[in-house]
Amino acid sequence: TILIPLYCWNQDMDKPDSERSKVKVAVRQRPFLHSSEREEPCLRILDKQSVSIMNYRDRRESVVYSFDWCYGPDNSQQELYEEAVKPELSHVLRGQNASVFAYGPTGTGKTYTMVGTSGNPGVIPRAVGDLLHASQATAQTKLWAVCISISYLEIYQEKVRDLLDTNKQDLPIRQDRNGAILVPGLTERVVDSYAQFERIFMAASRHRMTASTQLNHTSSRSHSLLMLRVVKTEQVTPFRRFFGKLHLVDLAGSEDNRRTGNSGVRLKESGSINSSLFALSKVVDALNQGFTFVPYRESKLTRLLQDSLGGSAHTVMVTNLAPEQHFLFDSTSALNFASKSKLVVNRPLTLQSQQPVMKRRLSNNDGELGRNATLA
Ligand code: ADP
Ligand code: MG
Repeated sequence: TILIPLYCWNQDMDKPDSERSKVKVAVRQRPFLHSSEREEPCLRILDKQSVSIMNYRDRRESVVYSFDWCYGPDNSQQELYEEAVKPELSHVLRGQNASVFAYGPTGTGKTYTMVGTSGNPGVIPRAVGDLLHASQATAQTKLWAVCISISYLEIYQEKVRDLLDTNKQDLPIRQDRNGAILVPGLTERVVDSYAQFERIFMAASRHRMTASTQLNHTSSRSHSLLMLRVVKTEQVTPFRRFFGKLHLVDLAGSEDNRRTGNSGVRLKESGSINSSLFALSKVVDALNQGFTFVPYRESKLTRLLQDSLGGSAHTVMVTNLAPEQHFLFDSTSALNFASKSKLVVNRPLTLQSQQPVMKRRLSNNDGELGRNATLA
């Protein structure tokens, strides 16, 4: 066999209590952006749960990672949403908290995954549509009333800024007696219809802080967080109330900013982006390894997400990756963030011994070849 275990770790080995939920991880590889590109991809989705990437230390080898779900260029927005995100909505409607993150280097499809396009809507529009639909259906029974409201904020240089009211630039984060996280002063708007949501959300999205870097001129240097609050009130005795929250987070680019030629204020931005992503990685690690101490307080991001990340909350992380070889180092770091479990395979990712027709399919970025590739 040609499989060399590097660090294999059984997720259930050191689980302290079965109640605690793990962070579920999906990987999503976007297609090449320019169809004229003839470069071989640096990574490939092998099957529904594994992805293979060139070993950047030795490109004659590849490294295989496994995850809860792996999506390639042929998988639709709908597939990812239905499998990885939609199941979380039922928790929110039952009064629990959930969060969905898009993580990865700039230009790999985080905003595409979360927001999408009008023809190919992403996680946010789909989740809001389904929550509104579910709440209307529930309300029709006359047994429950459901109220959905949204807040939208960004964390930029460790400051919480209200995207629904740009006068609020540095809001505090507090925790109430029950452990719920609050942002006093943050705007909250009730949404009754999808059209109303779209008006509020799209207007606010334009306020997002963007600045150009050498990597991507439209990249966002901040973390944006849409919070959906669902309050379900029983209309008959015993008049129970359920409070659920869903956080949908488009994280700042995970690339190593020492290599992007940033300086001055950009470097300061990079510093705080990286430190909060580093804090997030420590929190995710602590949760998945079952540590009793989870370092939520180390950044605004993890503090804000404390009640919807770990504990009784449900978390899905979508790690976005790009196939171009110049993303190899940042893609490898993103995969290492998302998984502690990987295998080094002493066979190159690029299958040079394949017959010409296969090679042509490879350079056409045909996802099927990836699925047919074998490890041994
Ligand atoms: P990020 O937010 O991570 O910086 P974007 O979401 O802006 O990246 O994606 C970069 C570019 O790639 C955009 O032009 C986007 O439309 C395109 N893109 C990303 N993911 C996909 C995908 N799965 N299918 C098609 N195009 C994609
Ligand atoms: Mg983006």
